[in-house]
Amino acid sequence: MKWRNHRRSDNIDDLRRQKSSSRAGKTKLGGIGLLVLIVVGMLSGQNPLQILETAINSGTSTSYTESEGDYQASTANNETAQFISTMLASNEDIWNKHLSQQTRRNYREPRLTLFTQQVNSACGQASSASGPFYCPADQRIYIDLAFFNELKRMGAAGEFAQAYVLAHEVGHHLQTLLGISQQVTQLQQRTSQKKSNKLSVLLELQADCYAGVWAHHAEVNNRWLEKGDLQAGLRAASAIGDDQLQRNAGQRVNPDAFTHGTSKQRQHWLAIGLKYGKVTRCNTFSQ
Ligand SMILES: [Zn+2]
Repeated sequence: MKWRNHRRSDNIDDLRRQKSSSRAGKTKLGGIGLLVLIVVGMLSGQNPLQILETAINSGTSTSYTESEGDYQASTANNETAQFISTMLASNEDIWNKHLSQQTRRNYREPRLTLFTQQVNSACGQASSASGPFYCPADQRIYIDLAFFNELKRMGAAGEFAQAYVLAHEVGHHLQTLLGISQQVTQLQQRTSQKKSNKLSVLLELQADCYAGVWAHHAEVNNRWLEKGDLQAGLRAASAIGDDQLQRNAGQRVNPDAFTHGTSKQRQHWLAIGLKYGKVTRCNTFSQ
């Protein structure tokens, strides 16, 4: 994708370094040592917060020498972070314009939290193992960029594959703004597990379709897709289908346990969004 000259988003909270730095800060300068430092600093007229920050940062620089592998990984991740920031900005531009045009609802931009390994959200604590997710309670998207290495291992390398994953999460945000998620949750509370899973599949497929709608308009505006990009997105949609994930995990494919849809369904709905560029075409529930 030709993305480098495009705007980046301001709606990003990057917690990737903070976690390791606060941990390092604690081990280096815990309890009384830190308290003494702050009191002495305050007596000499310094801002206590600034002292704390300095203490934590100095903790990091020493702890990073022993984990050079991590440091290199995060440098590589910065390129990905810039890319994701550009894609988030594009989602903002597209949905600010098209959501109100197509649904008469205004778009509210979600924030994106980048984290490593573990994160606290309003939906509870989550680890990287659960993959990127959207939390309706704080209207934030959470991504550990290491997930994209995982995606690569599953055979879905490429920038558009990553863009699709982000746009899918933005799709869940749209479902929240439109009240669809809330309706589905209510229905799920008074139905069987099997039917509840089915509803969950329809919700996921709709988010795939919304991702396609974004990609449609982003391409009309920017002409940034290059040869092979679309295929990469479709491969990603296929790689994270429930049937494929079940097979990868060595399980027999069991449609009742699907919560995201099969590879084929995910590809289909992403393609529908891409083709028509219309939110109203994404009515997976009426199928
Ligand atoms: Zn989803």
